[in-house]
Amino acid sequence: MGNIIIIASGKGGTGKTTLTSHLGAALASMGKLTAVVDADAGFRNLDIALGLESSIVYDYSDFINGTCLFDDILIKSPDLSDLYFVPAPQSVPTTDFDKEKTEEFWDTLKNRFDFILADAPAGMGDGFMFAAEYADEAIIVCLPQTSSLRDADRVITELENLSIEKIRLVLNRIQPELIENKVAMNVDDCMDVLSIPILGIIPEDKIIAEAISKGQPLLKVTDYGAGRAINNIAGRLLGNEIHMMKFISKKEGFFRKLAGIFK
Ligand code: ADP
Ligand code: MG
Repeated sequence: MGNIIIIASGKGGTGKTTLTSHLGAALASMGKLTAVVDADAGFRNLDIALGLESSIVYDYSDFINGTCLFDDILIKSPDLSDLYFVPAPQSVPTTDFDKEKTEEFWDTLKNRFDFILADAPAGMGDGFMFAAEYADEAIIVCLPQTSSLRDADRVITELENLSIEKIRLVLNRIQPELIENKVAMNVDDCMDVLSIPILGIIPEDKIIAEAISKGQPLLKVTDYGAGRAINNIAGRLLGNEIHMMKFISKKEGFFRKLAGIFK
């Protein structure tokens, strides 16, 4: 029986779709049968991040409305044998869905996969509820900024009201230079604001844009890059104890190197 993990945030543009595609790929590369579900109906774009936009024939509204079979809505990744994508409808509102069929949709995913990652729209609208009502766990994706954290707090309260107990934080687009210059908040301060456990910290990394433009969700793992950060998150979801990565600015790195030389 797999776990449904909703990937949510208060504001848009925090990196939910990015995390869903790369985390899905990381879990699949570790041998876990993973389904990534686009819960952002209407504004779907997980298909682009996965490079599968031209492979969509049916979406989950077709299964829920009884026009196709469950297997018809599963799109297998051409690169990762354990990664499957479930596309969102572009125009059918999730509020029109039959409750029993919706339940069957999520239950079938749980029975067939180890991990189900649901890429939620920003905020707490219908698309969010479509996934949140059936989710076992949640990952909140936040930028290290007061406004992003404040909005996330409201989403966390909503998820708690839905009795989701495991809600963990991912801080995205961390830039040590901005933290050092006090333009961005540091990780400890962010954690103090939200008081939920942290699952991972992802640096600002240009390989994310490159991966999206190529439609390749599996990131290259480099020492301090987003690829390693996301692999670490996948490892933690598998129950492994993995230390948080420590990011230092180029300036700090230079001084540390210098100190090493002159020690
Ligand atoms: P959301 O789904 O929350 O609206 P997206 O995943 O679409 O956000 O990300 C918004 C933008 O931020 C995208 O252009 C994406 O490439 C970029 N982005 C996300 N995370 C990172 C990162 N760690 N480093 C660099 N760019 C990132
Ligand atoms: Mg998105």
